[in-house]
Amino acid sequence: TPGIRPLVAGNWKMNGTSASLDELRAIGAGFAQGLEAKAQALVCVPATLLHRAAELLAATPVQAGGEDCHASASGAHTGDISAEMLKDAGASHVIVGHSERRTDHGESDATVHAKAEAAWRGGLVAIICIGETHGQRQADETLEVLSRQIEGSVPLGASAENTIIAYEPVWAIGTGLTPTVDDVASAHAHIRARLEERLGQKARTMRILYGGSVKPANASELLAVANVDGALIGGASLKAADFLGIAEAYR
Ligand code: PEP
Repeated sequence: TPGIRPLVAGNWKMNGTSASLDELRAIGAGFAQGLEAKAQALVCVPATLLHRAAELLAATPVQAGGEDCHASASGAHTGDISAEMLKDAGASHVIVGHSERRTDHGESDATVHAKAEAAWRGGLVAIICIGETHGQRQADETLEVLSRQIEGSVPLGASAENTIIAYEPVWAIGTGLTPTVDDVASAHAHIRARLEERLGQKARTMRILYGGSVKPANASELLAVANVDGALIGGASLKAADFLGIAEAYR
């Protein structure tokens, strides 16, 4: 999209230990050595690695992010982590409403809405995930589902500065399957239109990422689609060669 710097964002999910930090070091080096001219980069890591990830990336153009946050700033929520805590550990962004959170933890649009506002309160950019299931696509409900998720999950305070939208068809996540370029184009155009309707002009430069089985081999095709302002990458973000290979699509 004109006027938008693309973002290549990784999501390590429940993967990674100290040994994985070498991959992160290589990702940082790759962007420092020229890739940053083409795209901004972010890797969202498990909370256990966040502090070390942020420290080792500090000297590079790559930012570190969290994968989820609680809606509250602190309190009696054993095992949960707040946006303020992620920020303190060095995060710049946090993913909210990933389909695995929506499914595994029963997160509703209202929960995701609250988490996005919590991200801003904590000083983080919220990456709000939306996307249809296989059944919804089969039933031709994709655009309707996206409208409903935008309405329910994206707070009215969202702007290009504090929010990124990630379109992730649930059936394309971790499956090796991807929608056709035409389907990606129509979903992203629909999302842009709904965001503009809801938020006005400020949605014109909001990033809309595509996520779901992005890899070096399909990145050029997917990232060239209108209104695709970058990618959210799961599996292929775990290896520096794959992640950098995807960013190379912008060269
Ligand atoms: C994701 O989990 O956000 C994702 C897109 O995963 P993958 O790239 O592995 O499909």
